Amino acid sequence: MRAEILAFGTELLMGETLDTNSAHIAARLPALGIDLHTVTIMGDEMGEMVEMLHRCMERSDLIICTGGLGPTKDDLTREAIAETFGETITFDPDLIAAMEQNFRNRGQDMPETNKKQAGVIPSVTVLANPRGTAPGWWAEKGGKIIIAMPGVPGEMVLMWDQQAAPKLKERAQGTVIMSRTFKTIGLGEAAVGEYVSSLFGRDNPYLGIYARPDGIHLRIIARAADQGEAIALIEPMEAEIREALDFAIWGVDGETPEERVGALLSDRGLTLAAMESCTGGLLASTVTDVPGASGYFKGSLVTYATKVKSIAGVEPALIEEHGVVSAEVAGAMAKAVREALDADVGIGITGVAGPGPQDGIPAGTVYAGVAMDGAVESTVMRFPPDRPLVKRRAVVMALLQVYRMLLERNG
Ligand code: AMP
Ligand code: MG
Repeated sequence: MRAEILAFGTELLMGETLDTNSAHIAARLPALGIDLHTVTIMGDEMGEMVEMLHRCMERSDLIICTGGLGPTKDDLTREAIAETFGETITFDPDLIAAMEQNFRNRGQDMPETNKKQAGVIPSVTVLANPRGTAPGWWAEKGGKIIIAMPGVPGEMVLMWDQQAAPKLKERAQGTVIMSRTFKTIGLGEAAVGEYVSSLFGRDNPYLGIYARPDGIHLRIIARAADQGEAIALIEPMEAEIREALDFAIWGVDGETPEERVGALLSDRGLTLAAMESCTGGLLASTVTDVPGASGYFKGSLVTYATKVKSIAGVEPALIEEHGVVSAEVAGAMAKAVREALDADVGIGITGVAGPGPQDGIPAGTVYAGVAMDGAVESTVMRFPPDRPLVKRRAVVMALLQVYRMLLERNG
């Protein structure tokens, strides 16, 4: 089944509201065996909506719409679908009664304008909305299905999960699409690609390669009649990837660097401490997102000002000689905090978060030092000069550096 998503809402075009509805739906279509090929964001403009719906009907079996089901004049999804199907909207008295009851339950009278939301056409089955007033539409004609759900994410998610997705599951039986992602670190995209070059170009399972903030990802995508068959397709390719690249793989699917580092530290009974400058405590925050972090995380000193780094044990002469943003200072921070907090592993992060340069060092330059076992290693990273992004990526890279050094030590 070929599907596309239409996210209606002029506010989505202004960049104010992010289209999270499409992401929610898109993430759930593969498990239903439904092929998504296009996602479109559109304003609430009747003529354009009808034109787009006609085009979708030609190229897709399933069109999933969100937004435009509100009571006001600018919400036009029902009207656009009715026109596309060549049908006339009538008002369902049972639906109006249910909506009025809904309002009474909340101690209110239903405003006249909400009656618009009880509109239906002959091709429609209504999808109930337990969280709001706007019912959804399951409209079906000539083998084509149009689903319309409210824009409010909480309402849409519930309607999708409880009603639309189960109904689609009955229809779309016959294929499942499964994937498995391998996350690597330390190699560029081309190098990762070379290790597994013989696996590209196949159709099923398909292998994709993507550059992400936490390294290069390889993703196997398989389609089959059921989950067992899909797994059977994935496993031989997974074995080949592992054989070629196991040394560089730090995680699979949804695993995060903080979880993987945490698991490794727990396994080995080691503890971690950090001294953070440009990340302003984000490393501590990220590490403590993992349940059980108290078992291995000692703490982090946020030494933002240069003088505070010296108070925390970094030699002023070293800072003077190399500059506060340098490999030497990152390493010294890692060593100092490891000793100060009596931890097995110390991390030091110093950099220029931006947006402008500092002492001639370009924004986005970050040094991460890691100290363990008497060894200190520092690496430099250069990110785009965007403060939140620099901070996030610096944390990921520092954690993955810890992960790599721990692996080299084999436990
Ligand atoms: P509507 O159903 O068009 O009245 O949408 C109601 C509200 O839901 C809008 O004001 C937005 O804040 C939100 N919304 C609409 N579409 C989306 C979307 N695709 N993703 C996330 N939020 C949305
Ligand atoms: Mg709207």
